[in-house]
Amino acid sequence: MSKTMNDIQVPDEIRQAALNVRDHAYVPYSDHPVGAVLISESGKTYTGCNVESANYKGLCAEASAIAALVSSGERQIRKIYVIGPGEHLCTPCGDCRQRIREFAIPATEIVVLDGAGAPLKHYTMDELLPDSFGPENLNKTSGMG
Ligand SMILES: [Zn+2]
Repeated sequence: MSKTMNDIQVPDEIRQAALNVRDHAYVPYSDHPVGAVLISESGKTYTGCNVESANYKGLCAEASAIAALVSSGERQIRKIYVIGPGEHLCTPCGDCRQRIREFAIPATEIVVLDGAGAPLKHYTMDELLPDSFGPENLNKTSGMG
């Protein structure tokens, strides 16, 4: 069952990290800055923002945070917060749902914040990407190695 926004607590340092990284987004084409704050299974925090380019093939904030996680030698996402620019729900795109799924564990949570950093909605991995295809479908485990 989905938690409602009243059930969700966002620690101040997470909200501040989300606002900071969102404000670093490079979005001259879409003018739609997004930030992601990821908590790994070890408890470390990784952040990412969207980075666009003139060929319109930009990098999403979630992909950017996941790249930082993996680059640091970690492989598992405990929680990921996503913050967009406004009041509306800025959920991970389809590609990013699959990217999060790659490094998800059964307890992975996805929290979408509004532009001010207040929680809007909370998802489990299965709610965000039902009946998903993952590493185990190829007889691999996520967090390999
Ligand atoms: Zn995306």
